[in-house]
Amino acid sequence: MVGYIFLWAICGVVAAIIASGKGLGAGLWFVIGLLLGPFGVLCSLFVSKNNEKLQNQALAVGELKKCQFCAELIKGEANICRFCNREQEELQEAVHKTMGSIHKKLQDAISNSDVLLVKQLLDDGLDLSTNDQAFEHLEYAKLHKNEEIISLLENASSH
Ligand SMILES: [Zn+2]
Repeated sequence: MVGYIFLWAICGVVAAIIASGKGLGAGLWFVIGLLLGPFGVLCSLFVSKNNEKLQNQALAVGELKKCQFCAELIKGEANICRFCNREQEELQEAVHKTMGSIHKKLQDAISNSDVLLVKQLLDDGLDLSTNDQAFEHLEYAKLHKNEEIISLLENASSH
């Protein structure tokens, strides 16, 4: 009798381990294993996985990530999405950050009335439409009332 109880308890633990590996509640499956013994373990082997929970766990530990473009789940280390073939990567983030800092630089130049720097940044081909700062550059320049900078920006945004 004691041996059975022990075996049934083991079955509860085994069922719980198998179930939690499938993203299912360990507590519930411990009870099922405890009540059904080996049949509980069998049930835990054949019950279907909770894919959503497994995915969430994998996302949380960085084993999987969402593609930045199509939002499909891909491997954490993947550089190219296997669904849409687009490049993931920190490279893109780096580009965004550099763009951001160029706009920041322009905005600083505007607030310092640094005409030369504004001109240089515009000559470098800065695309004003990618501005991610709180203010439009032209709007910002108008606040600072430097006519030279305003006309530079007006020219730059007209083409
Ligand atoms: Zn994709």
